[in-house]
Amino acid sequence: MFKMTPQILRNLISGPATRAYPRQIRPPFPATRGRLVNDIAQCNFCGACAVKCPSVCIEVDRHLSRWSFAPHICVCCGVCVEICPRHCLRQEPATGPPAAQKEMVALDAKS
Ligand code: SF4
Ligand code: SF4
Repeated sequence: MFKMTPQILRNLISGPATRAYPRQIRPPFPATRGRLVNDIAQCNFCGACAVKCPSVCIEVDRHLSRWSFAPHICVCCGVCVEICPRHCLRQEPATGPPAAQKEMVALDAKS
């Protein structure tokens, strides 16, 4: 008991070690590889991101000029961002909002 007393006292006067999520959200680290964003106006629909994606979560339809992405499959590896020749892909330093359904994100050249 005597050995534990200092630790007990420390625990009593220190704050909680955890955060009261979602009221307290920890700011993401600057280098966080989070939500994938495509500046579709710059995309030329070459399909390189879809070919290299290890999770196969990107689909590119050149004829429809459509870029589609399945955020629930993405593992945020950043490979697509690195190889995109138009530099139109980026990862924001934050994760996406929670989703109740597995939905594809589809971006058209005209959108
Ligand atoms: S690699 Fe870049 S330019 Fe090519 S389809 Fe993907 S997002 Fe568009
Ligand atoms: S970050 Fe990785 S898993 Fe996600 S879309 Fe890009 S290549 Fe695919």
